[in-house]
Amino acid sequence: MPQAKFDIKLLSHTPDPLSLIYAAFRQCYSQGFAGDMWDKLISGEISREKQAEFVQNIISSGHESPIEHVNFTFALSSVSRALTHQLVRHRIASYSQQSQRYVDASNMDYVLPPAIAKNEKILARYEAFMEEVGKAYEDIKTMLEEDGRGALAKEDARMVLPQAAASNIVVTMNCRTLFNFFEHRCCTRAQWEIRNCANAMLKECKKVLPEIFDHAGAKCEKLGYCPEGEKFCCGRYPVK
Ligand SMILES: Cc1cc2nc3c(=O)[nH]c(=O)nc-3n(C[C@H](O)[C@H](O)[C@H](O)COP(=O)(O)OP(=O)(O)OC[C@H]3O[C@@H](n4cnc5c(N)ncnc54)[C@H](O)[C@@H]3O)c2cc1C
Repeated sequence: MPQAKFDIKLLSHTPDPLSLIYAAFRQCYSQGFAGDMWDKLISGEISREKQAEFVQNIISSGHESPIEHVNFTFALSSVSRALTHQLVRHRIASYSQQSQRYVDASNMDYVLPPAIAKNEKILARYEAFMEEVGKAYEDIKTMLEEDGRGALAKEDARMVLPQAAASNIVVTMNCRTLFNFFEHRCCTRAQWEIRNCANAMLKECKKVLPEIFDHAGAKCEKLGYCPEGEKFCCGRYPVK
């Protein structure tokens, strides 16, 4: 019953993302044809700085739909089912998650919350439960197989698995969804695991497209104040 160690890999993103967003924005406001300017964008004849300045100005005016043309695909490893349940609530995205119906969860990895890890007594209770649940899964799966459930035994035995059970998932989001995702999930109000995951995703996005993602993050980063109220404010920005 090993503890799961979170990992993230940016598998892919739309090529030439800044130029693509620039071309899409320019198409909205110019009589010309975006196709005619493409070579100048890619060659740098229209500089990256100029593209970035134009794109940043339009985004800050609230016109965001052209950034939907650019996608990022991440593989997330060893995240809890509690995390993936929150993740898939973000509907404007695509997901492919490891199936508990088909993948055997014997010797299941599990996620360990830091608050539990640092307290020996709580940790011992938590680990004992994970041990027991792992054993229950195996016993029930074996008994179901012996009872004639065959390959479908896993789909019933999985009912005993906890929210801590580790999972792998591939997620694709476009830039607009990512902005919304980071606003919600980089905030200190978000649960620690999905917040860590969102911050790791944001770090990868910034490497590829700093011109856009240096302005992304929790809502307060954009607003300059905290909209969450006194009770939930982390203190980084004043409450409004
Ligand atoms: C701190 C925190 C606590 C939360 N607590 C709870 C909770 O207790 N219970 C719970 O159920 N959820 C909870 N959530 C989840 C939250 O309500 C959202 O479901 C989740 O954050 C996805 O956000 P979204 O809908 O903006 O994203 P997406 O589904 O990606 O949607 C993006 C945007 O598209 C638009 N949109 C999408 N679908 C529709 C639609 N059907 N109609 C109109 N507009 C649409 C909206 O503008 C939306 O913001 C919590 C989230 C956070 C960050």
